[in-house]
Amino acid sequence: MTDTHSLNNKPFWQVKTLAELDCDEWEALCDGCGRCCLHKLEDEDTGVFYLTNVACRLLDVHSCRCRHYADRHRHVPDCVQLTPDNVTACHWLPETCAYRRRAEGHELSDWHPLISGQASQVHRLGISACGWVVAEQADTQLEDHIVATISR
Ligand code: SF4
Ligand code: SF4
Repeated sequence: MTDTHSLNNKPFWQVKTLAELDCDEWEALCDGCGRCCLHKLEDEDTGVFYLTNVACRLLDVHSCRCRHYADRHRHVPDCVQLTPDNVTACHWLPETCAYRRRAEGHELSDWHPLISGQASQVHRLGISACGWVVAEQADTQLEDHIVATISR
């Protein structure tokens, strides 16, 4: 359990930089949207990234949670480990992503679980991948599942 308030009664995400968060605080910052777990495609000629609606094979497409988060790298070695140092370079993170927002100096959104106290808000408001993401099949052609261009 993460104590959301520091000694000066401000929540930890307001008084600490991403680099200053401890492990529990870092994990609590994730809003559970699951959108970082969708396959992306890169056009090697233009460098443009495209978002698909196809989930990483470890993502539970109903809850939008990783089914083996603790040992995910054993199953999916190229799962990107977000760190304070690489958040800004991960331009494919959605603009709603709490790590991206804090790295860019923005407040957390009102619906964020740490603000609203409700983990379901991210799904209810349509911010998460729930409801439009599909599981990857053996014959899935990612090119057929592009849903957006990712702007830098
Ligand atoms: S996009 Fe950001 S907030 Fe959403 S699940 Fe991924 S890391 Fe968490
Ligand atoms: S391994 Fe888990 S955390 Fe990593 S992309 Fe897949 S579902 Fe997401």
